[in-house]
Amino acid sequence: MPHVIVIGDGPGGLSAALFLAKNNLDVVVYGQDKTAMNWALVRNYLGIAEIGGTEFQKVARAQVASFGVTVHDATVEKIEPHAEGYRITLASGANVTAKYIVLSEGKAPKLALQLGLVFDDKIGIATDKNAKSNLDGVYVVGRSSRPGRSQAIISAGDGAAAAIDILSREKGEDVVDWDSPPKES
Ligand SMILES: Cc1cc2nc3c(=O)[nH]c(=O)nc-3n(C[C@H](O)[C@H](O)[C@H](O)COP(=O)(O)OP(=O)(O)OC[C@H]3O[C@@H](n4cnc5c(N)ncnc54)[C@H](O)[C@@H]3O)c2cc1C
Repeated sequence: MPHVIVIGDGPGGLSAALFLAKNNLDVVVYGQDKTAMNWALVRNYLGIAEIGGTEFQKVARAQVASFGVTVHDATVEKIEPHAEGYRITLASGANVTAKYIVLSEGKAPKLALQLGLVFDDKIGIATDKNAKSNLDGVYVVGRSSRPGRSQAIISAGDGAAAAIDILSREKGEDVVDWDSPPKES
C-alpha cells in the first residue's frame, strides 16, 4: 500500500510527488498528460527563462521518475473513505488504498466532489495554506483550489507545501527538504 496517492499529473501533482518520493515516502501518481501545460509557453516560472509547457512536463516527469515514482496512465473514477485512509477505483476496476490523498485535478475537480468537498467557481476548494482540505488526509492543490490564480509555479508551490506537510505529520516534527553542494576539499 503506498503512503500517498497523487491524482493529477500537472505541475501540482508532480511537485507533490517529487518532494514525497525524494524524502522516501511511497507515492503513486495517476494522470494522462491532459494538463493545461500542453497549451502553454511558460515565461513566468522563476529560474527558467522560457520553456514550452509540453517540454516542462517532460522534464518534470523525468525528474519525478528519477526518484522512483511511476506516473500511471490511468483515470481515477472513484474515491471513498476507507479504514486505512482512502480507496480509489481506476477505470480498469482496480483498487488502491493510501493514508493520504493529494488531489490535483485541475479546473474541473470531480473526485473532490465525490468526497463531499465543495468547489466554488471563483474560490475553488477551501484549504489551509498547506493545501489541507477539511477532510483529514486529503490535500487539494493547484487549479482546483485556486481557479482564478492558475499559474504553473503556484500549482507547483501548493504541491510542495502539501508534501512537506505530509512528511512533517509522518515524522512528528517539521521537515525541511534542503540540499547543499558538496564541500570543496
Ligand atoms: C493556453 C494556456 C496557456 C497557459 N500559459 C501559462 C503560462 O504561460 N504560465 C503559467 O504559469 N501557466 C500557464 N497556463 C496555466 C497552467 O497550465 C496551469 O496553471 C497549470 O497547468 C495548473 O496545474 P495543475 O497541476 O493545478 O492542474 P493541471 O495542469 O490542469 O493538471 C491536472 C491534471 O489532472 C489530471 N486529472 C484530473 N482528473 C483526473 C482523474 N480522475 N484521474 C487521473 N488524472 C486526472 C488531468 O488530466 C490533468 O493532467 C496556461 C494555460 C493555458 C490553457
